[in-house]
Amino acid sequence: MQVPSHVEYERATSVEHALSLLSRPETRVVAGGHSLIPMMKLRLAQPELLVDINGLAELAFIKLDGGQLRIGALARHADLLDSAVAGQHFPIFRDAERVVADPIVRLWGTVGGSLCQADPSEDLSAAFAAARATVVIKTPDGERTVPVREFHLGPYETVVGRGELLAEIRVPVRPGTGSAYEKVSRRVGDWSVAAAGVVLSVGDGVIREAGIGLTAVGAEHFVAAEAEDFLRGRAADEESFAAAGAIAAGHCDPVADQRGPEDFKRHLVAELTTRALRRAAGRAGSAG
Ligand SMILES: Cc1cc2nc3c(=O)[nH]c(=O)nc-3n(C[C@H](O)[C@H](O)[C@H](O)COP(=O)(O)OP(=O)(O)OC[C@H]3O[C@@H](n4cnc5c(N)ncnc54)[C@H](O)[C@@H]3O)c2cc1C
Repeated sequence: MQVPSHVEYERATSVEHALSLLSRPETRVVAGGHSLIPMMKLRLAQPELLVDINGLAELAFIKLDGGQLRIGALARHADLLDSAVAGQHFPIFRDAERVVADPIVRLWGTVGGSLCQADPSEDLSAAFAAARATVVIKTPDGERTVPVREFHLGPYETVVGRGELLAEIRVPVRPGTGSAYEKVSRRVGDWSVAAAGVVLSVGDGVIREAGIGLTAVGAEHFVAAEAEDFLRGRAADEESFAAAGAIAAGHCDPVADQRGPEDFKRHLVAELTTRALRRAAGRAGSAG
């Protein structure tokens, strides 16, 4: 199938308008359309109504506000890649965006669309999990906030319900924090074989807090929780980083597929987690 089935189309003029349209059954938001439209062509998604949110400029922002980096759901991948304020406080997002797809996808694809697509190999989900971000979801009654680590219910499934809209992602900015993202893919612009993102808070050479996100390797909620627990309170050195990498590799759940066998993916998790920790530690103190 290469042609979507019949679908109605409405262009939302405000968040309230979008919410009222989304209350209808079998309705889907379309943002960049880079995931949804291919799925419709394959008839894996067959919405009856598309609600286009591309006119909602109020959801297209990236700014620092009250100690948080706030990213509107309609910010494009290219906006996040180019954002000076995001790059200053969270180089992990710039690292990740450099390796998300290709420039065409990055010009249209949105941060909110990426999270809501909930692809198990999605890069930003791991990066936001590492950063312990919170998402803001607009509802018919107002809004609710959800830790990003509770946002994904499983592959292609999130907590965004009928009649709701992901509006924003908020990331707490903490001094003395460094971050990095490391990915291996088969070729430039491809999805991850495996990737690891790290946000590390270091003081006096000791790790105060570690956030580690993994993608494409079956990590629950994109998080390497056991490795994070291991690192808290330990010296920010090579020995700790390598041990944490091994723990992350041991606790994820990769499956063999066309991108490689399970043991290769575990090897990548150990190596990429160690590298991301090393790079994040090197950056700690210069960001935030
Ligand atoms: C060739 C190609 C290569 C790619 N490579 C990578 C890669 O390497 N790494 C990676 O991480 N991704 C990759 N992607 C995925 C790409 O990043 C996503 O397709 C894209 O960013 C999704 O965003 P979108 O705005 O296009 O979402 P859409 O396709 O518009 O929507 C996706 C889903 O999210 C829902 N949605 C969108 N916005 C909202 C919202 N605000 N609130 C509620 N629901 C919403 C839609 O209803 C739909 O279900 C690739 C895509 C392509 C086409």
